[in-house]
Amino acid sequence: MADYHTLIVGAGFSGIGAAVNLDKAGLADYLIVEAGDGVGGTWFWNRYPGVAVDIPSFSYQFSFEQSPNWSRTYAPGRELRAYAEHCVDKYRLRSRIRFNVEVSGAVFDGDENVWRVELNTGEIITARFLVNASGVLTIPKLPDIDGVDSFSGVTMHTARWDHTQDLTGKRVAIIGTGATAVQVIPEIAPIVQQLTVFQRTPIWCFPKFDVPLPTAARWAMRVPGGRTVHRLLSQAYVEFTFPLAAQYFTVNPFAKRADAAGRAYLRREVRDPVLRDKLTPRYAVGCKRPGFHNTYLSTFNRDNVTLVTEPIDKITGSGVATADGTTYDVDVLILATGFKVMDVDAMTFDITGPSGQTLSAFWEEHRMQAYEGVSIPGFPNYFTVMGPYGYVGSSYFALIEAQTHHLVRCIAQADRRAAHRVEVRQEANDRYFAEMMRKRHRQIFWQDSCTNANSYYFDRNGDVPLRPASTPEAYWRSRSFDLDDYRFTG
Ligand code: NAP
Repeated sequence: MADYHTLIVGAGFSGIGAAVNLDKAGLADYLIVEAGDGVGGTWFWNRYPGVAVDIPSFSYQFSFEQSPNWSRTYAPGRELRAYAEHCVDKYRLRSRIRFNVEVSGAVFDGDENVWRVELNTGEIITARFLVNASGVLTIPKLPDIDGVDSFSGVTMHTARWDHTQDLTGKRVAIIGTGATAVQVIPEIAPIVQQLTVFQRTPIWCFPKFDVPLPTAARWAMRVPGGRTVHRLLSQAYVEFTFPLAAQYFTVNPFAKRADAAGRAYLRREVRDPVLRDKLTPRYAVGCKRPGFHNTYLSTFNRDNVTLVTEPIDKITGSGVATADGTTYDVDVLILATGFKVMDVDAMTFDITGPSGQTLSAFWEEHRMQAYEGVSIPGFPNYFTVMGPYGYVGSSYFALIEAQTHHLVRCIAQADRRAAHRVEVRQEANDRYFAEMMRKRHRQIFWQDSCTNANSYYFDRNGDVPLRPASTPEAYWRSRSFDLDDYRFTG
């Protein structure tokens, strides 16, 4: 007898979505374990200045819990944290979350058909089903630069911002120019004495229609018709700018115009042609995640902001030394260097199947793959919300709702059949993987220029485990996949 029917790892929006869907299916015997002392996942950990979503809020929320309270078209991080808290309270999840515990490993016991999940407290929890909702942008990545530990001033990664540090009047260096840096740089530049930005690969940046929502618009969101109109317009915008542009690049005539729009915006925002040239990406828009911000590019016009494109040689006790022999002495070093996503050690914990093979070893051997982005052959009773070839690039909430619907269908079916073991069939997984390979030529990632992007979307095999499909297709398939693609035994 297992301690729980289902164990969910993570109380971010994936974990919350999985729990709500389990409850709706009457599968209420679950526990959520969470490493932090609050809910919201990404939005719990990322509290850097300027943190906000860059998918419109009307789409960046659960379809079954649409908030009439967003203050802006793009909600700031604190509102998303509050929204997570609201969902947890409204759907009565709080008492079923254990905070401040980390999963250190999970091993499938093939005799009992349960997962034995070890926590960092040394405790072992058993569960029939294991849902990995620990996210993909979870483990902060430190740069592989010599001496990164030797800096004698303050060092902070953006995902672990230290708000006790006052940056006013300080000399600050920031390494990285990804979507996070795009939000941090304009926010801190006006208060610091000097900001030195170390850029390895420039990012495409576009303006963001980020405006306060007038009271009338918020009232309109309280009535079902008004909510539906906001939602539909927002969904159409997101679909057009993300999945349809990236996943259908070769067949979408509009997608190819994005580079010209990005260059026109750069010309408008950055006066100095040399500086503008340094800020201009040499890859197509979409090879890596673009940024959306109204003042990121123009911030480089400021006298107290310096853009350094010379490669970093090392970090010293006093600052950052570049390959040309210059050392930039600073008081604070900000690492906007992202997360371990496709790295070998990107899993938050080891998952060991009944054969003794870990999931990372399986992927190492067979390339990253998962049936519909949810389940992996050889790993029974295990489901992941953000597995390879699940995400189409639109709102993460669309992904969460589709994938948690999929996994709840499987778990409910197992219960109906009194089966203790559910495993995706090898042939179903192979068929899905072959389909992904067959369709991926339409994606933007296979344009020659993407080789210059240095994009974390590419794994070490050169694969991009994003789903070459649209959001409606992924949604439909989560409802219509053949349950016989799974073997129900035990
Ligand atoms: P990221 O996109 O991985 O960017 C990391 C940056 O650090 C890149 O510019 C990278 O350069 C640089 N870097 C890493 N190691 C380096 C080194 N050794 N030397 C010099 N530069 C180095 O990380 P992120 O900006 O945190 O964004 C991660 C993801 O979070 C985004 O893709 C997005 O999905 C999500 N995000 C979303 C939002 C939002 O919705 N509002 C906001 C922020 C982030 P290279 O490009 O050369 O590797």
